[in-house]
Amino acid sequence: MPRYLGIDLAGDGRASGYAVLDEQARVIACGAAPDDAAIVALAARHGATTVAIDCPLGLPEGLCCLDPACGCAPANAPGIRQSELAVRALGYGLYHTTKRTIIRGLVERGMRLRPLIEAQGALVIEVYPYATKAMLFGRRMPKKTTPEGRRWLLARLSAGLRGLDMARAYSHDELDALAAAWTALMYARGDAVALGDAREGEIIVPRVSRAPALPPAG
Ligand SMILES: [Zn+2]
Repeated sequence: MPRYLGIDLAGDGRASGYAVLDEQARVIACGAAPDDAAIVALAARHGATTVAIDCPLGLPEGLCCLDPACGCAPANAPGIRQSELAVRALGYGLYHTTKRTIIRGLVERGMRLRPLIEAQGALVIEVYPYATKAMLFGRRMPKKTTPEGRRWLLARLSAGLRGLDMARAYSHDELDALAAAWTALMYARGDAVALGDAREGEIIVPRVSRAPALPPAG
């Protein structure tokens, strides 16, 4: 049975949001994972077939690391991954993965975690939940850290996902993990595409940039 695990990976020692979907887009599990071991264990316990991580999982061609002290250098100007240039060309801003990145620890964590999950046989993909949400629901979204923003996102996710608890106060990390898992399911269905160059790490985004039908309000 296919299972889609979405991870909103934290780079600052906080727990990471996670969500698991089945192939009917039913929410099987959702919560917070404290560390890498917990994430690997979640993938194993749920038999995850695709794991979508909200974090760069590759480096620009030519770089072996993000350490400014290392002599490695990008092979091509401007030294930015093709996937990131493609996302930016669609109009969605993001942090570029260079030696000047302010999320070096997060990128290094994602790149450490990836082979641990792949060793269990899962396909690991890089996703960008902001782009997923903007493409599906439009760019005008309330700030995700506010209660209003969380309610807004939960209502929209419920148009495509089954089994959400509409009375639960999902954290924004959990909501982003749900968006990540949904992107993994869309990719498996052929409803999402890979942007960029596989050698540097592709970013998976929905194929369509229009909102799915929402159920009647009430
Ligand atoms: Zn290096």
